[in-house]
Amino acid sequence: MRVTVAALETVRGGLAHPASNARARWTERGGVLIVLACEKGHRGQGEASPLPGFSPDTADAAWRALAGLAGRAFPCELDLCLPVAPQVAAILREHAPAEPSVRFALETALFDLAGQRLGLPVSVLLAGSWPTRAVPLAALLDGEEPEALVAGARAARLAGFPAVKVKVARPWRFEAELEALERVRLELGSHVALRLDANGAWSRAEAPVRLAALARFQPEFVEQPVPADQLPGWRDAPVPLAADETLALPGGFDRLRAEGGAQVAVLKPTVLGGLLRCRALAAEAQAAGMQVVISHALEGPVALAAAAELALSLETAPLACGLAPHAGLEAWPGAAVKQLAGPAIVPAPVRGLGLAPLAGSA
Ligand SMILES: [Mg+2]
Repeated sequence: MRVTVAALETVRGGLAHPASNARARWTERGGVLIVLACEKGHRGQGEASPLPGFSPDTADAAWRALAGLAGRAFPCELDLCLPVAPQVAAILREHAPAEPSVRFALETALFDLAGQRLGLPVSVLLAGSWPTRAVPLAALLDGEEPEALVAGARAARLAGFPAVKVKVARPWRFEAELEALERVRLELGSHVALRLDANGAWSRAEAPVRLAALARFQPEFVEQPVPADQLPGWRDAPVPLAADETLALPGGFDRLRAEGGAQVAVLKPTVLGGLLRCRALAAEAQAAGMQVVISHALEGPVALAAAAELALSLETAPLACGLAPHAGLEAWPGAAVKQLAGPAIVPAPVRGLGLAPLAGSA
């Protein structure tokens, strides 16, 4: 199969429901879409949407890198009689884009195109076998006010989500957050897990007190209570901990594995460099006794579908994944992510990502 670049375009749009965490607030979202084509007219889509204030790269850098790759790496050949994943890995190695979102976009588009041509989902191309199970989803509760959080918790419980996540650690709001969490925990009952995410906002000195106050809500885990470089080596936390920002540090995962500090690894392909890299990290983390969550960075439907296929492809089941539809999707033209069915990612007999071409890319 001869692969060429059919389109490269930016997408940007406002969010009617802004997203926020302890450190940032997003009122608009966007990224770069790359569309690859083969000689038989199939198309594969990939998305580079670095999250400002979170990702190590930027949308401008992603655009420049993808434009450069378009002239350098293409046309290229994929032999569809051979396994696709090693060929995609070789293309990435040869052209070695440094920006993690660009690696993700490039490999997503290649896998989507190969899947369209072969009539196989991306998860099958990644794993070499068909997924045998659905993957439960965790719902991210929007809003900062207690009423919004409680309403979100109720909706998630009634919809059958096994877990919800709440962002905490906003400046000067901890007491209000505790009151809101009291109500959220009550609303969730004992069967829905509660995850909390501090996005690295607390110092190593204050975090133990904060976590001790949160322990009564029996969180499944608290994600990134301290800055990225301060999590490795922390062994006496009063609640289970998850690593997110730490994993984006060079050597961050290796330090966690060697020194401890987190029982859960939150893997985001946009931030960590794509599907193959996250699959390798997931396997290493699980082999080291950690649990794994696949999550998004408020990207569009192409990245979300790709992350859903990644979750389905894992040989060892992840925890409920943070891939439920989110506020960032408002910035993108409508496209149904077929793998997401209520409170679970369900294996679907899709071709590639199973997405219709986004507006302007057909
Ligand atoms: Mg996080």
